[in-house]
Amino acid sequence: MIEVRGGCHCNAVRFTATIPQPPVPAIDCNCSICRMTGFLHIIVPHSDFALETGQHSLSSYRFGTGAAEHLFCSKCGAKSFYQPRSHPDSWSVNAHCLDEPVEVIVDWFDGQHWEEAIKDLPGEGS
Ligand SMILES: [Zn+2]
Repeated sequence: MIEVRGGCHCNAVRFTATIPQPPVPAIDCNCSICRMTGFLHIIVPHSDFALETGQHSLSSYRFGTGAAEHLFCSKCGAKSFYQPRSHPDSWSVNAHCLDEPVEVIVDWFDGQHWEEAIKDLPGEGS
């Protein structure tokens, strides 16, 4: 495991996360919101993530089932991490928002057909 740091564009939101040694498993999702935001998911258990600053800078957005809580910086708009529907016990950290790029292995997730795709999500439950 390695410790990484990251956050939003304006640095209001800053976090530390512990993730696997690279290459790090990552998920590229084509759902309506991930497609627009270009979010590249690294799933991090809540216990391996610490929000250092920015709690009060985060805005929340929910749609559809409302299960996912999409968080973004209210100042710069960057979405550096959020609560995904797929992993209730983890945050999804945006690989593009880490201070130093990490090598990733990307799995594709067909979020446009979420109910079907979740059954086959690699690493689910591990
Ligand atoms: Zn910001």
